[in-house]
Amino acid sequence: MRIAVASGKGGTGKTTVAINLILSIAQLPEIDRPAKLVFLDCDVEEPNAHLFLNPDLTRQEEVGIQLPEVDFTKCTFCGKCAEVCVYHAIAVLGQQVLVFPQLCHGCGSCTYNCPEQAIHEVLKPTGKLEWGTRTIDGTILQFGRGVMNIGEAMATPIIHQLKSQALKDIPLVNGTNNQDGLAILDAPPGNACPVVETMRDMDFVVLVTEPTPFGLHDLRVAVQVARDELKLPVGVVINRDGVGDDSVTQFCADEGVPVLMRIPLDRRIAEAYAEGIPLVEAQPDYQEAFIALYQRIKKEVTA
Ligand code: SF4
Ligand code: SF4
Repeated sequence: MRIAVASGKGGTGKTTVAINLILSIAQLPEIDRPAKLVFLDCDVEEPNAHLFLNPDLTRQEEVGIQLPEVDFTKCTFCGKCAEVCVYHAIAVLGQQVLVFPQLCHGCGSCTYNCPEQAIHEVLKPTGKLEWGTRTIDGTILQFGRGVMNIGEAMATPIIHQLKSQALKDIPLVNGTNNQDGLAILDAPPGNACPVVETMRDMDFVVLVTEPTPFGLHDLRVAVQVARDELKLPVGVVINRDGVGDDSVTQFCADEGVPVLMRIPLDRRIAEAYAEGIPLVEAQPDYQEAFIALYQRIKKEVTA
């Protein structure tokens, strides 16, 4: 089963939910626990889940996008490459072919469509993937994260490569009922392309919000993206329950979006977060609530 934990805006407690969910599941008895547990930090611009999970990082690799490079001994300046590039990242001007690396998504379309096979691709590093493990009460948690290089603009290819490597052995429940493996993905904040890339091919999306007008505004957009556009089942976790008003609860009721969990406004939660201590370690009572969240998601996915 694959679960993405996302939020329309930053600072809602998305990482708190993702981390405490996986830590709680890892401590279940073996019979109730998925055989393989994977946690991916997809917030490649500002990954911070490792601060709470403390994985032993043992491997890293450079990743990036495949930039087109033109062989001018073969190029006839026909313009086909520029014609097929939806990102306007390559232009043919007279006897020149210009590539704009900042705009290129490395999609390979220009290479594929060049009638002269005049384009080959070279890797432009934009970040790295880091891999490791953490052992929790005898359970091995596989950890992966993407880290984007400073100054780079495109997070999506890094997330794509992180997912394609880590999720090979974690099949979607949909259609298979296979629950041998579980992956939890901590999405970047917001609702832009990196979030869409994280949510793609998930069984379920948990949307973490807070009961404020800002929270509601961003939750609306997040529901549109995950449920209406990507056609994924969604559920909401209301964090800092007790501040603001009941407009988020009302919205969820009106839209038929289940509220899966409420985390109260509690100074001790913020203090544990500030010290880098996961909530379920600072307050073990919460483990039960996160297990209930997991059971609820499982029910929604297999319903
Ligand atoms: S499609 Fe190929 S041959 Fe045509 S302009 Fe582009 S690189 Fe040159
Ligand atoms: S790889 Fe894709 S985005 Fe980059 S120049 Fe070619 S067609 Fe455009």
